[in-house]
Amino acid sequence: EAKRAGRGRSATYDIVAHGAMSRRLRLEIDLPQAVERDELRLAYQPIVDLTDGALVGFEALVRWEHPEHGLLYPDAFIGAAEDSGQVAAVDRWVLREASRQMAAWREGLADDAVLMLNVNCTGRDLLESDYTDAVRRIRDEGGDPDHLFLEITESVLVEDPDAVTAELRSLQNVGVRFCIDDFGTGYSSLASLHSLPVDRVKVDRSFVAEMAERTESAALVRTIIRLGQILGKSIVAEGIETVAHLEALCGMGCAYGQGYLFSRPLWPDQVSELLASERPPWATYWADADVMA
Ligand code: C2E
Ligand code: MG
Ligand code: MG
Ligand code: MG
Repeated sequence: EAKRAGRGRSATYDIVAHGAMSRRLRLEIDLPQAVERDELRLAYQPIVDLTDGALVGFEALVRWEHPEHGLLYPDAFIGAAEDSGQVAAVDRWVLREASRQMAAWREGLADDAVLMLNVNCTGRDLLESDYTDAVRRIRDEGGDPDHLFLEITESVLVEDPDAVTAELRSLQNVGVRFCIDDFGTGYSSLASLHSLPVDRVKVDRSFVAEMAERTESAALVRTIIRLGQILGKSIVAEGIETVAHLEALCGMGCAYGQGYLFSRPLWPDQVSELLASERPPWATYWADADVMA
């Protein structure tokens, strides 16, 4: 059970994330070494078309199979890696591994099959290391960067908008697309995304979670979806955990969704199984006419 790709049942994780070990671990972190020793893993969480329940892609989420501490989730090491400047090594590995995996999965699919892979990227890293070059190299190695969405957070856009815009355009030219992650938690407005080459915007899961109890949160989500439609950006809702969340978001015309209601993050062999199956297990929600209303 401690080996699940998703959060929730791992006893190891609970101790490491919340106990004293977490602080000790921060000191012991050596991520470039973790990359070298091949200790990083990717879990893939399905992203679903909310109009019909179709699988349209995955978000790659990094985990660290630590030799002593067991399976670690990003919250236990990404923050520390950012502080010590080691996160670039992780993000590079993730970009490369996700592209390699995507090329392998797409081989079994029709050329025009809709299947995208979202990869997270730490903002600062976007400006400091040459991503465009990395993408070119990945393509040379036979990886598939043409079906990638790079997820960036709002904070990076606020810090140095001109430099970021230039970098995004350069990456766009080598085939990468962009998605704003955790939208609503930072200081940028949707209107400010208008001039950026950003295709998708992810509404932070805190707003989805609060929709039922707080009318302000529901109004905010509704507004983001409407503005997205006007500006031509598809909205992805994070953290869909209940049928009530799904029904509310479908009612608002939200394009895509992701969350435990559909699936926790999966290991690669589970993804292969899913890709080979006729219908995803969550398709039953769309057999219910209420969701479509
Ligand atoms: P994120 O990019 O916002 O990713 C979504 C997080 O929400 C994931 O946690 C996912 O497992 C979790 N999640 C998905 N559905 C649900 C749900 O229905 N309910 C709840 N409560 N949670 C849900 P995870 O995998 O622990 O990742 C946490 C964060 O770590 C990510 O947030 C992202 O910011 C960062 N991260 C993950 N992988 C990478 C990476 O390769 N590079 C960098 N720089 N950061 C990463
Ligand atoms: Mg993300
Ligand atoms: Mg997110
Ligand atoms: Mg989030």
